[in-house]
Amino acid sequence: MKADFQSGHRAMITHLGAAMALGVAMFGTALLGILTRPEGMLAVMWPANAIMLGVLVRYPRLASVWGWGFAFAGFMAADLLTGTSLYATLWLTTANVAGVAVGFVLFRYLLLKDRKLHRPHSMLYLFLISIAAAGMSAMFGGVIAVLVFPTDPLVAFRLWFAEQFANYVVILPLVLTFPHPRDVMADMSALMRMRDKGRTLFRAALPLLTLVGSLVFGYVVGGPGAIVFPVPALLWCALSYRFATTALMVMLTCLWLMTGVEPEIVALLSPDDYTDVMFSLRMGIALLALAPLTVSSINSVRSALVHRLDHAVSHDDLTGILSRGAFMQRGTMMLEQLARDRSSVAILLLDIDHFKRINDRFGHAAGDRVLCEFACIVRNNLRGQDLFARLGGEEFGLLLPHTDGANARAIAERIRLAVDQAVITHDTGEVSRLSVSAGLVYQDGGGDLSLDRMLLKADAALYRAKETGRNRVVDDGAAVQEEAASFA
Ligand code: GH3
Ligand code: MG
Ligand code: MG
Repeated sequence: MKADFQSGHRAMITHLGAAMALGVAMFGTALLGILTRPEGMLAVMWPANAIMLGVLVRYPRLASVWGWGFAFAGFMAADLLTGTSLYATLWLTTANVAGVAVGFVLFRYLLLKDRKLHRPHSMLYLFLISIAAAGMSAMFGGVIAVLVFPTDPLVAFRLWFAEQFANYVVILPLVLTFPHPRDVMADMSALMRMRDKGRTLFRAALPLLTLVGSLVFGYVVGGPGAIVFPVPALLWCALSYRFATTALMVMLTCLWLMTGVEPEIVALLSPDDYTDVMFSLRMGIALLALAPLTVSSINSVRSALVHRLDHAVSHDDLTGILSRGAFMQRGTMMLEQLARDRSSVAILLLDIDHFKRINDRFGHAAGDRVLCEFACIVRNNLRGQDLFARLGGEEFGLLLPHTDGANARAIAERIRLAVDQAVITHDTGEVSRLSVSAGLVYQDGGGDLSLDRMLLKADAALYRAKETGRNRVVDDGAAVQEEAASFA
């Protein structure tokens, strides 16, 4: 009872802390928007609303009375601190939070996969929700233009809408897919482990360099057309990088277009056209962002599918280890590399003894579970570089790179012993003991046996192991010696 109370208390404090952090974040981002807003003009970036919506969609538990309350207070504090009257601050904050609320309610109707932008149609939903959320804020903008800052409500509506829509479309995708630092570190360390680091890095950076080049080119050429100059490079990025990386590049590009290119175009026109031009530019930039984001979304769905299919084809679906086909393909490549490096290699064939009896006594399903347990035992005795496959039925193959005869024998013996000592308990409570026979073949650096030849020799050794009593390892050398002895 006391423990329940304590853990409930701790959860409440954690929740309050998170809600307060949201409030502080809203205060900071709203302040940034206010301070970067040119006098009487549209804010270059108003990231607060999009960030708040993205965070609430990702962590819906934050959408409590406390979460909304602290966020509201954060918005209010930023405006009050920069000299806005309480009356105007209340209206402005309501406009911002009402837009976020509309977005949040609509996102709740989407599947989790769409909220994570994991489906090709997800970007379309994000687009529609951005229209609704921006529309709500813009309606308040129109009211504010009547009641607080006397301006034309239609002009205010259009400017608010364009600004909010652009911010939602440009910022939300990144917030919704922002990766966990652990995944970023895993990507980094995978890159560091690569053989040809320099070339891989250069190739990976090419789309990004092209994007920077196209932005510089657009800046030099100038004019309204400069806004679409980065589109081909962004599409290349979308085909090359992960979704979150593409989303980051799209966001930075759009930010640059709004700060570096937009003012140049606005300066060319008469101040009377300000609303029309700004509306057109902002909408243009926001819609431009949708193309690479949609391509990236489709591309990541396709890559994930190809990855799943590739895994399904190359792995045995019962034990999860490599399939015969993948073993032959990867093994052949590995053998060629080992021959080039003049490195030793061993092949081990394993066949469970009297497996048929297990099926006959406990049923096929129990036999399947035994196969899985067997694969698990063997896997626990391997190194990361070894290839382990189910070649068929209850027969398994191992390719052990950089392994000489003595080491290969030791590994094989270790596996045989581990299997011999294992006790497998069936659902009925009855237990089974297993044993395995193994055929081993190896060649030192400079050997030129193909995988097929090595498997054939290992099979002959395995046959010997079965013939001479099972539960043993026979190596190709021993098999040859025994053959020679029997001929003598
Ligand atoms: P030995 O010691 O000579 O290898 O005898 P054994 O019984 O292990 O070998 P045998 O080749 O006579 O029988 C192998 C059995 O493995 C026959 C087959 O029904 C069973 N088997 C093959 N694939 C599977 C499978 O995927 N699941 C199950 N449960 N059994 C399988
Ligand atoms: Mg067998
Ligand atoms: Mg067999």
